[in-house]
Amino acid sequence: MAAIDGLPPLRDVIQRHGLDARKALGQNFLFDLNLTQKIARTAGPLEGVTVIEVGPGPGGLTRAILSLGAKKLIAIERDSRCLPALAEIADHYPGRLEVIEGDALKIDFENLVTDGPVRIIANLPYNVGTQLLVNWLLPKAWPPFYQSMTLMFQREVGLRIVAEENDDHYGRLGVLCGWRTQARMAFDVPPQAFSPPPKVTSSVVHLEPLENPIPCSAAALEKVTMAAFGQRRKMLRQSVKSIGGEALLAKAGIDPQRRAETLSVEEFCRIANCL
Ligand code: SAM
Repeated sequence: MAAIDGLPPLRDVIQRHGLDARKALGQNFLFDLNLTQKIARTAGPLEGVTVIEVGPGPGGLTRAILSLGAKKLIAIERDSRCLPALAEIADHYPGRLEVIEGDALKIDFENLVTDGPVRIIANLPYNVGTQLLVNWLLPKAWPPFYQSMTLMFQREVGLRIVAEENDDHYGRLGVLCGWRTQARMAFDVPPQAFSPPPKVTSSVVHLEPLENPIPCSAAALEKVTMAAFGQRRKMLRQSVKSIGGEALLAKAGIDPQRRAETLSVEEFCRIANCL
């Protein structure tokens, strides 16, 4: 039986192309087109939009993005075994799917698309997901090349991305995401939705870049959050000792008795700007 987009069901595709999931590539595939459409819809309207997808695999999310009307989809996949299955999708949507075989960590995303709005949508491989997010948060130019990022992570990582001060999950990632984006948790996806099922629950997170983030050097902010959260239970006067200690905190107007997880993004930027 054909699936709702007229293409064969994903289970058949995977069997026909011998795509047994490989753990080293973080492969946990989604089969349910209703679920992949729900992920794609979280990104917002896709008509007239170029979507960048990392790790299309056999193409479950790819098909959802195309069925929802994306003008163009550029997908980067490392596993060459997936290319024939993706070629079938490209034939079904002529001129709309471009597949790049390669490692997403080595792609120059900023120069990939030259016209129109761009959204990033991906069920990311867990082993490289956080690094990709950090790269997208720190492009050479700001505002960045994308309008939004809709990304699947392990729930634990999702909680760290959206965390604000006074939250146990608040740390370096939360500060970086809060500095540059408005990030929200969209919904959870249980392990049984994947094949093979991962050990933990996953979450879809949606991030939109802020037009005017607080002016601050990313390197300085990284230095401060690394020191502060390196000893998160200690008072700041102790944890930031190596980068300026009490003198630095006094300059920034921050009480040295506070702990890292109580500081807002604005306060972290203030310290970074006093370095
Ligand atoms: N999008 C598919 C889905 O939702 O069913 C597959 C998602 S699976 C979690 C992650 C995909 O990323 C796999 O297809 C894997 O081969 C691919 N991948 C892993 N590392 C990659 C990398 N460094 N660059 C590009 N793709 C990668």
